[in-house]
Amino acid sequence: MVNQIFASCETTIFEVMSRLAEEHGAVNLGQGFPEGLEPAELIEAGIAAFRKGPHQYPSTMGLPALRQAVAENAKRFFGIEADWEREIFITSGATEALCDAFLGLLDPGDEVIVFEPVYDSYGPIIRRAGAVPVAVRLEPPEWRLPREKILSAITLRTKAIVVNTPMNPIGKVFDAGELRFLADCMLAHDLVAVCDEVYEHLVFDGRGHNSLFALPDVRDRVVRIGSAGKTFSVTGWKIGYVMAAAKLLTPIARAHQFVTFTTPPALQAAVAFGLAMPDAYFAGLKATLAARRDFLVAALSGLGFEARPAAGAYFTIAGIGGLDDAGDDVAFCRRMTVEAGVTAVPLSAFFSGRDLRGYIRFCFAKTQPTLEEAVARLAAWRERHGAQ
Ligand code: GLN
Repeated sequence: MVNQIFASCETTIFEVMSRLAEEHGAVNLGQGFPEGLEPAELIEAGIAAFRKGPHQYPSTMGLPALRQAVAENAKRFFGIEADWEREIFITSGATEALCDAFLGLLDPGDEVIVFEPVYDSYGPIIRRAGAVPVAVRLEPPEWRLPREKILSAITLRTKAIVVNTPMNPIGKVFDAGELRFLADCMLAHDLVAVCDEVYEHLVFDGRGHNSLFALPDVRDRVVRIGSAGKTFSVTGWKIGYVMAAAKLLTPIARAHQFVTFTTPPALQAAVAFGLAMPDAYFAGLKATLAARRDFLVAALSGLGFEARPAAGAYFTIAGIGGLDDAGDDVAFCRRMTVEAGVTAVPLSAFFSGRDLRGYIRFCFAKTQPTLEEAVARLAAWRERHGAQ
């Protein structure tokens, strides 16, 4: 009576943990959404755009001003050149862009390589497109790219590889050598890459963001996806983009026209304004987030978690081995929410087998007082019970 893939899907872990946090009045460091970081000028640009209108369907491809701004921003920060008219369109968030890409590229029976821990929206949509996600696991604590495992996962049916850098949930930033290896695989096996780069502007410690799209010999095989939600700390706005050579972009844009058709014009206008903001805005966001990361990592380490600073994105992974004999991340996150009043996300939710249980994910993109409150609550919890 209903579709089996979605009928058997669980509610996403982000929703589950956010509702649990609400129920218990917990500080929510689970779901990845920022707090207090949205630039005031961007909000003003949004208000002005709402006053001015228009309020009707814009072109399915998006406002020209925003498509041009996406191209300009990619050139300014990443040295990436794309033709805004033929190679860029706007979506209602990266989630929609990913859906469009999988629907537009995949045929039944195709295999798609994904790296675990994997962002949760990829698998169900790949399967709904009739294709098969093939998981290749990265191992803690280094989360290196497992080159041998990738080579053995590629078959004659492999069509695509999904590359999420900076990577949610672990904050890994793929280096140039890793991307070159993947590019060589793409060339040797005639693959395309769907590159989820929603955290493109959140790479810390002076490192640059690397994209497969910047490599000339695979550029025409790469679909690059971004989101204003992360770049401007407005995750509720749901403005994303797709950048790809025209032959890949066209079927993806066709999928988009029947998924959402278009995206609110005032929000598109505001994001166009945001992408043109001076370098100082983008540098400031990185510096603020890196400082919050460092604060949280140091505090968690002091409380007995095994926490390491992430190279990019919003998240710190913390090992719970020193705090929880059972090493059960799901039970630990529930208990921490209910007893300590602090919410994180269990890392096992990002593994198809749900079998890597000793780690949890904290989001550090919050105000300093929120992080301090979370740390104080965790410290009090440890005092009261130990964390066992
Ligand atoms: N990307 C966010 C996270 O990882 C959540 C977005 C969502 O809930 N779909 O927490």
